[in-house]
Amino acid sequence: GTVAIVGGAGAVGSSTAFALMDSGLVGEIVLVDIDDERAEGEAMDLDHGAYFTSSVRVRTGDYEDCWDADVVVVTAGASQNPGETRLELMERNAEIFAEIVPEITAGLNDDAVILVVTNPVDVLAYVTWAVSDLPAERVIGSGTVLDTSRFRHALSREFDLDPANVHAYVIGEHGDSEVLVWSSANLGGVPFERYCAHRGVEDVDALKSRIGDDVRNAAYEIIERKGRTNYGVARSVTATVERILGDDDSILTVSTLVDGQHGIEDAYLSLPCTVNRGGVRDVLEFDLSEAEQTDLEESAAVIRESLDRLD
Ligand code: NAD
Repeated sequence: GTVAIVGGAGAVGSSTAFALMDSGLVGEIVLVDIDDERAEGEAMDLDHGAYFTSSVRVRTGDYEDCWDADVVVVTAGASQNPGETRLELMERNAEIFAEIVPEITAGLNDDAVILVVTNPVDVLAYVTWAVSDLPAERVIGSGTVLDTSRFRHALSREFDLDPANVHAYVIGEHGDSEVLVWSSANLGGVPFERYCAHRGVEDVDALKSRIGDDVRNAAYEIIERKGRTNYGVARSVTATVERILGDDDSILTVSTLVDGQHGIEDAYLSLPCTVNRGGVRDVLEFDLSEAEQTDLEESAAVIRESLDRLD
C-alpha cells in the first residue's frame, strides 16, 4: 500500500514514516510538507535505510500524490509548546486544516482513509470530516490509541504482567478530560478490583489516582523534558495504519464521529472502534459507571465547546 504523510517533515510525521518502513505492508511512503527542503532531507535519509527493510520507497510529493494513497496521515501543524494545552493549539491548526483538507480530498480515491494526528485531534478530525464531505467511517483521528497504550503499559509495569494480558481503555477527548475506564479494566479477564485483591493492593483508590495522573500527564512530562512527543505517537499511528491496511477488524480507541453512543451526538471522540480497510466498521459502548458516564459527557462537552468556538 501507499501511505502519504502530510506534515511528513515534522517530528511526528518523520518518526511515523520511520516506524512504517518496518511494517511490511507499505510499498511507498510519500512525505508532503510546506517545508519542501526539510521533507526532501527526511525522505532521502529514510529512503537510504530501505536497503535494510522490505523494499519501501520513501519520497516527497505534493497533494496530488495523496490522491493515490490508501491511507493519508495528517500531522501538519504547530506542535504543543511547554505549558500550552492542546486546545490552545486549536485555532492555529484549524486554519491550516481549512487550507489543506480540500487539497488532500480534491482527487482522493474512494477507498482512502484519512488519519488525523494533529492536535487537538478530536476537533481537527471533526473539521476534516466536515470540510471534506467524506463518509465519517473514512475520517479517523488517532484519538486515545496512545493514551490507551500508556494506560496498559502502566498497569503491566505495576503488576509485572505481559501487556497482552492487560485490557483497559482510555476514551473521550485525547487531552486533559480523557476518561480511564476502570470499571471494565481487567487483567487476563479478571476484573481490576478483584485482581488488586489477589495481589494484596491495600489502597486501590490511591493506585487508580496515581495511574490516572501518570497517563493524563504523560505528554506534558515528556514535552517538559524534550520539547515534543514523537516516538510513542509514531508507534500508535503506525499500529493504526497497519490495522487499516491489514483489514484486521481490530478494536482500537480511535477518534470517530459519535452518533448517539453513551447519549453523545455530533462530536468526534474516542470509543473502542472496530477498524479495518474501510476505516471504522463499528463503534462500541461500555457499561460505564455513573461517574465514568458523567466524565465522558464532560469530555464530550469540552470538545463540543471548542467546535462551537470555531464556528
Ligand atoms: P512539527 O512542527 O515537528 O511538524 C509539523 C510539520 O507540519 C512541520 O514539518 C511543518 O512544516 C508542517 N506544516 C505546517 N503547516 C503546514 C501546511 N500548511 N501544510 C503542510 N505542512 C505543514 O510538529 P510535530 O511534533 O511533528 O507535531 C505535529 C502535530 O502532531 C502537532 O499538532 C502535535 O500536537 C501533534 N501530536 C499529536 C499526538 C497525538 O497523540 N494525537 C501526539 C504528539 C503530537
